[in-house]
Amino acid sequence: MKIYDITLPVYEGMPVYKNKEEKQPSFEVTQDFETGKVHETRIHLDVHTGTHVDAHLHMLPDGETIESIPVEELIGPCKVFDLTGVEKGIAKEDIVNLDIQEHDIVLFKTKNSFDTEFNFEFIYVKEDAAKHLADIGVKIVGIDALGIERAQEGHPTHKSLMHKNVIIIEGLQLKEVQEGHYFMVAAPLKLQGTDASPARVILFDQAPQA
Ligand SMILES: [Zn+2]
Repeated sequence: MKIYDITLPVYEGMPVYKNKEEKQPSFEVTQDFETGKVHETRIHLDVHTGTHVDAHLHMLPDGETIESIPVEELIGPCKVFDLTGVEKGIAKEDIVNLDIQEHDIVLFKTKNSFDTEFNFEFIYVKEDAAKHLADIGVKIVGIDALGIERAQEGHPTHKSLMHKNVIIIEGLQLKEVQEGHYFMVAAPLKLQGTDASPARVILFDQAPQA
């Protein structure tokens, strides 16, 4: 069984959304072997750092928070689609002929997976593609960008998906992953009351034995 860790590393100076300084994580060593008996670190971390799962509260004022997503929803068979040929944004016409069914976990691999720093022109999911996915009723949409949309007034991609309870995973790293069928485990931290959480996301090339 081959395992793919499709999680971005989290470190000081890592790529963050629009290179905003306030989104940079910081690691503070609160105690080390010179000042104490053990080594301990405190982190200051935006919940949308690196690979993460968005909760409805991110976009919807009455939206649910991250712990409301049952872990069972974040584990299961998934489909990775290679959209590395797409320029600018993923439109409905780019995905309408793909084998995408109700309840699917769908991950989009794009040129973003090959970026080594934040790209202001990152590939995103356009509103018409989001509406198409919401109409099908997929369970999860994941993308290899720190945001699933950009340059769309009012965030219609997030909202179209969230209104149909589609879970959004952002910041995947799919460079090493070929198009195909996998088994996914996405494990956000069990934070209480937040609008997102960083997650470890792992793909297996076959389902684990029951
Ligand atoms: Zn987010």
